[in-house]
Amino acid sequence: MTIEVVLLGTGNPLPDRDRAGAATLVRAGGRTMLFDAGRAVCMRLAAAGVLPVMLDAVFLTHLHSDHICDLNDVVTTQWVMSPMPKTLRVFGPPRTSEVMDGLRAMLVPDVEYRLAHHADLTWGPQVEVIEVSPGVVFDDDGLRVIAARTDHRPVEPTLGYRVEFDGKAVVLAGDTVPCAGLDHLCRGADVYVQTVLRDDLVRMVPMQRFVDTIDYHSTVEQAAQTAARGGVGTLMLTHQIPTPGPGTADEWVALARQHFAGDIIFGADLASISI
Ligand SMILES: [Zn+2]
Ligand SMILES: [Zn+2]
Repeated sequence: MTIEVVLLGTGNPLPDRDRAGAATLVRAGGRTMLFDAGRAVCMRLAAAGVLPVMLDAVFLTHLHSDHICDLNDVVTTQWVMSPMPKTLRVFGPPRTSEVMDGLRAMLVPDVEYRLAHHADLTWGPQVEVIEVSPGVVFDDDGLRVIAARTDHRPVEPTLGYRVEFDGKAVVLAGDTVPCAGLDHLCRGADVYVQTVLRDDLVRMVPMQRFVDTIDYHSTVEQAAQTAARGGVGTLMLTHQIPTPGPGTADEWVALARQHFAGDIIFGADLASISI
């Protein structure tokens, strides 16, 4: 096994009993990396055999709430369970520091309580924020992470990531419509994880705020076209909008199949692939 990908949360912002929020685990070269930290991320990490203290880094694709709402749980649980000070590196787009400052402010009472209670705990959460621009953002011992601009306007800037190790590559696209940055990341990748939307279903919802989401997400067909252009091996559909009804997975896959001949995985929480 060279790279393992686990879809921790495949949900969209609408709460669902079976789908946690946006988050994907990638393990490669002895490292454990989390991409986005949506609703219930720590529960799904535990299900994948990972505690926050085991994370080497967190990468954020963008700062929409459904992708970061449980980052505070990752930060506090990593801190409280660390036997000694351990820095959690959080990579993200510009303004990630602003979000982290707010998160730290929210945690002030909790940090005070725990420092007062535990004699051996003499430090607060150790978080290093790295606001990244497109290019290689991580390069260590054969493991590379490359970031590229995606298009989720008016949310900007947003980032997609490509993890490379031992000749294999995995792309974590986040929320985006097809764009040059995404094509750059996908070129020849073994796995491409894309958040997707069914515009045929969303258009039927009598609520403009919901219909607006069509503007800035890849449809299933667009994701499949991006996969085909890049010559990727496997397309993983995640963060499906709207929440798929029971027994409808085949419909989603059939839409992608019209444009992409490779493997297609319809994501459910904890679906995984190892390459
Ligand atoms: Zn978003
Ligand atoms: Zn989203």
